[in-house]
Amino acid sequence: MTVAPPTVTLDNRFARELAEMAVPWQAAETPDPRLLVLNEPLAVELGLDPAWLRSPEGLRLLVGTVVPAGAAPVAQAYAGHQFGGFAPRLGDGRALLLGEFLDPDGRLRDLHLKGSGRTPFARGGDGLAAVGPMLREYVISEAMHALNIPTTRSLAVVATGRPVRRETMLPGAVLTRVASSHLRVGSFQYARATGDPDLLRRLADHAITRHHPGAADAEHPYLALFEAVIAAQASLVAQWMLVGFVHGVMNTDNMTISGETIDYGPCAFLEAFDPATVYSSIDEGGRYAYGNQPVVAEWNLARLAEALLPLLHDDQEKAVALAVESLGGFRRQYSDAWSAGMRAKLGLSSGLAEEIAPSLVDELLTLLQESRVDYTSFFRALARAARGDADPVRGLLLDPATFDAWMKRWRALGPDADLMDRVNPIYIPRNHVVEEALAAATGGDLDPLDRLLDAVASPYVQRPGLERYAAPAPEDFGAYRTFCGT
Ligand code: AMP
Ligand code: MG
Repeated sequence: MTVAPPTVTLDNRFARELAEMAVPWQAAETPDPRLLVLNEPLAVELGLDPAWLRSPEGLRLLVGTVVPAGAAPVAQAYAGHQFGGFAPRLGDGRALLLGEFLDPDGRLRDLHLKGSGRTPFARGGDGLAAVGPMLREYVISEAMHALNIPTTRSLAVVATGRPVRRETMLPGAVLTRVASSHLRVGSFQYARATGDPDLLRRLADHAITRHHPGAADAEHPYLALFEAVIAAQASLVAQWMLVGFVHGVMNTDNMTISGETIDYGPCAFLEAFDPATVYSSIDEGGRYAYGNQPVVAEWNLARLAEALLPLLHDDQEKAVALAVESLGGFRRQYSDAWSAGMRAKLGLSSGLAEEIAPSLVDELLTLLQESRVDYTSFFRALARAARGDADPVRGLLLDPATFDAWMKRWRALGPDADLMDRVNPIYIPRNHVVEEALAAATGGDLDPLDRLLDAVASPYVQRPGLERYAAPAPEDFGAYRTFCGT
């Protein structure tokens, strides 16, 4: 490992404060690093010089083979419930935390790698990642950011020059990820499972300072931490539901303490509205189906509560009672966030709408499901109806007469079409377009990816020439399937 010029200073706070959960490690050598995509706006936002990042030395930072003096990269330990079954030792099998840095706004951010080689947590895995899935995380996470949904960010994807064996041989890549931290529900489960109360307390204190500093002043800081995570996740999952995002692998190791979306593996966006939608090929029982996401989030938060119990009260029964009471707030918070968001999607902001909207919304969702309407384009078409042109939206439904009756009641509430257009995206990363861009990039052609990134970076304002990014998949695209373990 050589030392980079002092362009970036990386702290090793996680490694220092939580050494039991940090294994010092270094990234694998990359035979032939080549930059596939660099997020220039993000680099600038972080105070990093894009020109330097593009240089041979910058690339070596992006793949972790050269780190700034003082940096101490680590693989982080965590546990997790995967599809309901507890795995006490997961951890970064193919990822590394390079360190933390202060962005120009004074916020502490993790600089992290995915696909950087085997670590002691790799188990049977090869520690590597292929170009397609790393670009997929890049596209979807940046689309989520543009949709104003909290998420980890993607700074770059660098092809390594090392082939990766999957079903076929594929080109390998490293994703450089930025996050407000990589603390997960699974981090707390790991600390709890060690049986070391001091480690658990240090982890909770670390999380409070980094993410929920207000909790430190609460009467009961650890309960306040739990409640802050509940609030952040209730809001996050409501936003996923409103935009039609299916995470696909909501294991507790893939749920953050910060409330940022993390781990873009088998995720995808809904087309036809159907709560039972599942894309992941391994989710046979539909545990992580679109419509199950709020319930799964609540289940994961219950696992967080279990991990926190020793910090909540010395008397276990009292600790459980406190946790249960706090967790009871999740449903209301989720439902308030979702209902307010849905009213905005329908352009309804009046007090009257608040009373009438629930039944109106239920009926609408039933109609959408019956007609298998494309969820995203529906709301933009509906805004046109608010402006007087109802034909496009009527054409999406199988039974226009029933829909007309619905529209009559909706119109009576005075929907605001401009409000609708501010919250309902036109351009999302459509599954067939994502697949097409990733296949082209894997074969060496980055143009489709660049065009897709451009479309989803500005999702709300219609631009000529981008029609195909607004349209659902053609019939012959068939049922979409996504994969974990990529
Ligand atoms: P994920 O499904 O991406 O959340 O990963 C679950 C666990 O598997 C984590 O501990 C990962 O680090 C690990 N993992 C996934 N893919 C690989 C791989 N190719 N090599 C080593 N570990 C992996
Ligand atoms: Mg994960």
